[in-house]
Amino acid sequence: MVKDDLPQAEIGIFGGSGFYDLFENNFQVVNIDTRWGHPSDTYSIGTIGGRSVAFLPRHGHEHSFAPGEVNYRANLWGMRALGVKQIIGPCSVGSLCLDIHPGDFVVCDQYVDRTKGRAETFFTHDLGKGVQHLSNAEPYCKEMRKVAVASCKKLGIPVHDGGTVVTIQGPRFSTRAESEWYAKMGWSCVNMTQYPEAYLARELGLHYCNVSLVTDYDAGLGKYAAVTGEQVLKVFNENLDSLKKLIKVMVPALPHAEDMACSCSQTYGLFE
Ligand SMILES: [Zn+2]
Repeated sequence: MVKDDLPQAEIGIFGGSGFYDLFENNFQVVNIDTRWGHPSDTYSIGTIGGRSVAFLPRHGHEHSFAPGEVNYRANLWGMRALGVKQIIGPCSVGSLCLDIHPGDFVVCDQYVDRTKGRAETFFTHDLGKGVQHLSNAEPYCKEMRKVAVASCKKLGIPVHDGGTVVTIQGPRFSTRAESEWYAKMGWSCVNMTQYPEAYLARELGLHYCNVSLVTDYDAGLGKYAAVTGEQVLKVFNENLDSLKKLIKVMVPALPHAEDMACSCSQTYGLFE
């Protein structure tokens, strides 16, 4: 699966809404085709703090793909082909909890899947690997989460260590009734892309760390904490600035994959 002619990178980063470019200069653009189809766009390979990094905007550079249209399997397969072992998956979220404010970052440790019809496994009949039912009780990398939280604290970014993101199908936002339901369940925030992205990383044996950027309060909290569209846009842009600073601190601080004590990589190599 790893092609000799492809540049290699240790760490992969997916860009979400508004985050379409990572490197300003000294990067290589790579076009990858996969057995699962085309990734959302070309990958950019560069270096941050001495670590090699591959970047891909998950919706494409022009934000062409709706959350339900993103080819998550191709995006992850391409990362794997580049040699990536650790992935940072930032995403914008709405808060479901009055303790989680716009401008806060939540490094989630759980997700709830409310999507439908997405291609969500590499264990398909035609791949000939048989069916495997992987443990997903701990869907995110705990080692990377520690580094993400410590890096946020270092930068003074308000951060929540752990949380549950519910992933909805989109592209529509939640109704107030849906949002109130999610909030009553005790979930932290709502998003449209964490599933199956995080899970597919697990199937490939890649370490995956979420960073949820809180843009606003979701509909169910609206009557308690209304925000204007102008405020949302301001927070959204500030979050992107903070995220870029976080990446510069977090990437060099990550332990090398082979030195990590978590169990994320149990299936690494299965799809060589
Ligand atoms: Zn891990």
